Amino acid sequence: MSRPEQKYGVAWSRDELILALYYYCQIPFARTKASNPEVIKLASILGRSPSSVARKLGNLGAFDPVLAKKGISGLTHYSKTDKAVWEEFTNNWDALVRESQRLLASPGVIPQGEGPHDEPEVGLPTGATERPVVGVQRVYQDFFRRTVLASYDFTCCVCGADLPMLLIASHIVPWSVDKQNRVNPENGLCLCVLHDRAYDRGLLAVDDKMVIVVSREARKSRSEFVQHTIVEFADKSLHAPRRFFPRQRFLKWHLHNVFAQ
Ligand SMILES: [Zn+2]
Repeated sequence: MSRPEQKYGVAWSRDELILALYYYCQIPFARTKASNPEVIKLASILGRSPSSVARKLGNLGAFDPVLAKKGISGLTHYSKTDKAVWEEFTNNWDALVRESQRLLASPGVIPQGEGPHDEPEVGLPTGATERPVVGVQRVYQDFFRRTVLASYDFTCCVCGADLPMLLIASHIVPWSVDKQNRVNPENGLCLCVLHDRAYDRGLLAVDDKMVIVVSREARKSRSEFVQHTIVEFADKSLHAPRRFFPRQRFLKWHLHNVFAQ
């Protein structure tokens, strides 16, 4: 992928759309604005204007079933290539990360000497510059974490805790069980450290109506803290994500295989 000058009115290539989707997933939808530093960074990588990149990220929202249902995206100007890229890569998340990393590492795509991002918690990977220090595995984990946290607007979907340093992108089906869905954001929940552990150990689960269920063991606890932080959430609805809803099949797997009843 070359790094052309500002490309006004030039159709988006498949490679550009792959990178746009990669960024789209990791930026909360409400922040896909031309003034967002990540949008500006992608614009600089692609040699396009930030407003054209922001528009494209908005266009991608048109394919997002959650946003479409809420009538949030409202954007109808998309091309066949937009749709093809969305469909191909939201069915093959590993490939999205792999292809994006390949494009970001291509000579000339990333400006020389670009340093690490100011906000490591939520900043997007810069590809080539991070490659030597982080392993391949880490790149996939980072994408999953950023995408899941962005989907849930950086909020624990059980208790609403909103401090990023307390939040974990928790796999519904552990990646050791289902490697194919290790990066799939529909296999993720944004949970605080306490609820991540409780979910992982089967004290909590989510049923097919997106309602929280609590195990007998937790309910029997005499600790006021456990009652307050876990048991009280029984029968409450999960804080729904803004996109990439958890897939029923994954929730069901957890309910049957991990939840302790
Ligand atoms: Zn929580």
